[in-house]
Amino acid sequence: MAAVLSCNTQTRRESRFRECIYTPGLTSFSVWADNADAVELRLYSDPEAAVEVISMAKDAHGMWRAKIHRDIKGYLYTFRTRNGDVWNEESPGIFAKAVGLNGDRAAVVDMRATDPEGWADDVSPEVNDIIVYEMHHRDFSVSPTSGSHHPGKFLALTEEGTKSPEGLATGIDHLKELGVTYVQILPSFDYASVDEADTLNPQYNWGYDPKNYNAPEGSYSTNAGNPETRIREMKQMIMALHKAGFRVIMDVVYNHTYDAMGCALGRVSPGYFYRMNEDGTYANGSACGNETASDHEMMRRFMIVSCMYWVKEYHIDGFRFDLMGIHDMETMRAIRATLPPDIVLYGEGWAATAPALPAEELAMKANTWEMPGIGAFSDDIRDALVGSPFSPEGGFAEGEPGREERLKFGLVGAVDHPDVAFGPSWAGQPRQHISYVTCHDNYCLRDRLAIARPDADEATLLRMDKLAQTAVLTSQGIPFLFAGEEVFRTKGGDENSYKSPDSVNAIDWTFKSKYNDLFQYYKALIAIRKAHPGFRLTSARDVRDHVEFPSAPENVVIYRIWGLDGIDTAKSLIVVLNGNSEAVKVKIPKGSYSILAFDGEADPDGLFGDDTYDGDEIGAEPYSATILAEV
Ligand code: CA
Repeated sequence: MAAVLSCNTQTRRESRFRECIYTPGLTSFSVWADNADAVELRLYSDPEAAVEVISMAKDAHGMWRAKIHRDIKGYLYTFRTRNGDVWNEESPGIFAKAVGLNGDRAAVVDMRATDPEGWADDVSPEVNDIIVYEMHHRDFSVSPTSGSHHPGKFLALTEEGTKSPEGLATGIDHLKELGVTYVQILPSFDYASVDEADTLNPQYNWGYDPKNYNAPEGSYSTNAGNPETRIREMKQMIMALHKAGFRVIMDVVYNHTYDAMGCALGRVSPGYFYRMNEDGTYANGSACGNETASDHEMMRRFMIVSCMYWVKEYHIDGFRFDLMGIHDMETMRAIRATLPPDIVLYGEGWAATAPALPAEELAMKANTWEMPGIGAFSDDIRDALVGSPFSPEGGFAEGEPGREERLKFGLVGAVDHPDVAFGPSWAGQPRQHISYVTCHDNYCLRDRLAIARPDADEATLLRMDKLAQTAVLTSQGIPFLFAGEEVFRTKGGDENSYKSPDSVNAIDWTFKSKYNDLFQYYKALIAIRKAHPGFRLTSARDVRDHVEFPSAPENVVIYRIWGLDGIDTAKSLIVVLNGNSEAVKVKIPKGSYSILAFDGEADPDGLFGDDTYDGDEIGAEPYSATILAEV
């Protein structure tokens, strides 16, 4: 009975958002606009003017409906609502699944005709650990050094065999070599800030300015004016990533729209989908002009159905929620309950400014423990390692003293742990902890290190880089890497490159050869993590039972995971993180160890092969990590 009920609920939820259902003989249109006094459907077969304007009829549920009894495949359409005497601007509807140029009009498409060949057999690969690689399409493939035939497009990720000028793998082959398991794509739904009609002038934007949440962005397709092409090419990309062994996480930005009255949510039902201040102005927790109202029933449903749609129609494997702290926890829990359990969910547990809803209801980082199965970005481990992006003051990896406890807090995945003098804990389970030092926001790692330590030479910055990522990739929780860090990318000190040109944002793939030692280190760290489940303990209890921090000198953290029989091939794992400019020697429990990493070199099979190190003390070189596996 429960299953039947939930199935009906699901169907009812979805039915409010089935705005266009096409068959050759009949196309049904509907749009939810409960507060409208009239709604019209405008059909376009000609881009210049609507060929037909149809008055829609309202049902008891606030839905407006119309039917067209002829084949209108390929037509574009819009809805226009009237409140009182005011006709609002037309829009493609709140749940347009296919859109034309610049997302101004929706399109009548046969969704099955958008499936690339082999789509029915597309399945997500099995992966044994979640290691996320955050990528912007243009950053990743727009440089000529990527060797891509589809620079900056969805299709760039379908190309095999692309190479840098020095003959090293780029594109999807590079990802396979690196070994990450999840690719997180920056906003890839239709956003507003890039003019899709202008294909001549290079344009760049991160895409945090949603226009249509349920259709792909046009500028990443080879033909933004063809609604089917946009959809098909995004599916081709996802299928290619799946085939290559990666799962795909999409960045979703339900917290605000590009503007309120310029977007469908505002035009179809003015005021309803946004939180308002008491003086009638738009609340603005996003600092982008508005904040949506997930606490309003239809906005909550919209988010649930939208996520489900991307899972079902595009085979998306996870979502990263931008400014998740704007959403209420009830909505996030409802999304978690609706989506299959293997769909990964996490987000930014903060807002730009205080949202217009009580803090205790919001999906803020501090409340993460109240949202099982949903993670939050750990600014704690980030700030511990490299300092806050809002301050020039450095972190542990940059030699700043006094960061040990905060770093330990990150290493245990922000769960409650008796040996950690930092808190309060906010994760109920380690997997809720998204461990990272950099992402698309703020400085990339190389630039951040250089700003914190202007006195340091490049060799020292590279040591600090490796030290910081060793902590990330051995910490409990989900490690997260920003694309290009593995080749020591730089944005030339640009800390907010959201619309900076390609010259700032593109990854220069000649760096893979120039900094190949760094790349090899990242690759080995990832392989070490995958080989050792001790680094991804599954419960807070396990973390408390198996992680300890033996006493260590200043600016050194000894992170020991022990008692691993039945969990790991190693009896114990030890990571010595040295944030000092001098080498150190530390005491460790006597044992027989394989040395997996030392002085900026790493190897999952041991740096000395089968030769073990037997002793009760171990060294760590300046700004570097030592990793031991007890055999
Ligand atoms: Ca767009």
